[in-house]
Amino acid sequence: MQVGNGHQFAAPRPMQPGGTESMMHSARRLLDARCDELRARPGGDSTEELQELLHALSRMNDGTWGQCEKCNGAIGRDRLRALPETRCCLDCATR
Ligand SMILES: [Zn+2]
Repeated sequence: MQVGNGHQFAAPRPMQPGGTESMMHSARRLLDARCDELRARPGGDSTEELQELLHALSRMNDGTWGQCEKCNGAIGRDRLRALPETRCCLDCATR
């Protein structure tokens, strides 16, 4: 199976030290699990929460996860860890 431009599990890119990749990996598992949980509930499929979770997962696929949708700044790691589905940084969220 061909994936995109042929790069499958592409060579390691220079990443920020500290491993945003591995953090994203565990956040993704968390989001996946919460999606499953919601979907198992009656009506869970149409909740806003599920939309947020799916949005976060698609941002991971786009490579924009961890980036604020309002100011394009980086969302703090502590915030991402606590709230992996968040769309904006603490500054924008409290503004
Ligand atoms: Zn922001």
